[in-house]
Amino acid sequence: MTGELVSVREDIVAARPTLWVNPARPSGGSSSPLSSDLFDGVNDARDRFARFAPLLANTFADLRRTAGAITSPLIGAEALARTLNLAPRNGRLMVKADHDLAVAGSIKARGGAHAVLRIAEQVAHEHGILPVNKSQALDMPAARELFSHFRISVGSTGNLGLSVGLFASSLGFATTVHMSAAAKAWKKALLRQVGATVIEHQGDYEEAVAAGRSQARHDTHAHFIDDENSLPLLFGYAAAVEELAEQLAAQGVQVDADHPLMVYVPCGVGGAPAGIALGLAAKFGANARCFFVEPVQAPCVLGQLLSAPGEHPSVYDLGLSGLTEADGLAVPRASLLATSIAKTLIDGMITVDDDALFHLLALADQTEGLKLEPSAAAGIIGPRALFGTARGRRYLAADHLDCRLSKTTHLVWTTGGKLLPAEEHTAFVERGRRLQTTPLPFGAGRDDA
Ligand SMILES: *Cc1c(COP(=O)(O)O)cnc(C)c1O
Repeated sequence: MTGELVSVREDIVAARPTLWVNPARPSGGSSSPLSSDLFDGVNDARDRFARFAPLLANTFADLRRTAGAITSPLIGAEALARTLNLAPRNGRLMVKADHDLAVAGSIKARGGAHAVLRIAEQVAHEHGILPVNKSQALDMPAARELFSHFRISVGSTGNLGLSVGLFASSLGFATTVHMSAAAKAWKKALLRQVGATVIEHQGDYEEAVAAGRSQARHDTHAHFIDDENSLPLLFGYAAAVEELAEQLAAQGVQVDADHPLMVYVPCGVGGAPAGIALGLAAKFGANARCFFVEPVQAPCVLGQLLSAPGEHPSVYDLGLSGLTEADGLAVPRASLLATSIAKTLIDGMITVDDDALFHLLALADQTEGLKLEPSAAAGIIGPRALFGTARGRRYLAADHLDCRLSKTTHLVWTTGGKLLPAEEHTAFVERGRRLQTTPLPFGAGRDDA
């Protein structure tokens, strides 16, 4: 084991924020062995969203304005960059504001909606009310009657349940959401309000998913959306990159060999960030680089990437608690599907502590007026992890990024928060403000081997 790896492992078990650079990253010489099926899947998801846009616009008042497109703004974040001491010579900072997505209020609006639409399309097709690829002709009263005989179920720490529950119920499906103990009360209340059945579990995310999976197995009219193992979810997330590319171009932001795009995405089970990484690889190749960010107590994807072949460790095996206020990231064991896709696509992994998440959440509110939940703030630590550690600076030099920094765009993917009750957000901001007397992780001078 190299010294670097030893030191990353020490940080993980000590629950210290850390940076791991992927030796198998595309710029490290590995050419992506991903099958073209994966890239086809991304295009297929994009087409499905387009086919269903008229139906979504008719079903959700929130989506009428965008003609049924589920989109979020791309924002320049100069004020946030200043408070993070990210100097313009080190690149510009932008935010992909998925915390503000319509309907579900998180990045799960992309994956969850796509997985639900795919099931709707399949059921409609099997029952002869939908000629393939002609979803706009779907007769909604007939479809609703048909869908009411089918159940869509999901296991979740909260946001995926919220997304699947809201989209599936609105299309007429019976919906069951299995929630883990970490799921917030307001998410359960909102789901019950739209008619979803919410089953509360005392255990963690993994147990909620397992319960949903086993219950659905015995029901021929049930479709289970498996957060630990679902390509349709992943493709739904990946389709976001097409939208991002259009927004970058419209705002005059170049992405090419001379103008790298560095993307920082919060990571739970791995599906959403792996989808984004896949979309980035499909669209930008090696000109976009992706880092996932996990809580120090729940670094399941980093643990998986560092494990030996055949192993599938949980964060408990590493001596960690799995407990974090970042409920969207409170996952003990990684998706093997997501990690197998991410392992040759990403440049690295970053971990961050909960105090820093609140600190960053408050900064995002103070500087840019962004309403984030704790999970959604994780990506903001990204540039600091690269510039504030010896390992990060070595990576920038090794990949010749250091000489292109002024032409680099650092893109923070903010992943949830819109539906957060105002008083919860206010309490988070106050907590974060109190923590701002403590410096953020990855300050200069840290000895990280
Ligand atoms: C689910 C979620 C993530 C991470 O997605 P995974 O697919 O679990 O890795 C990040 N942020 C928020 C707000 C989420 O809800």
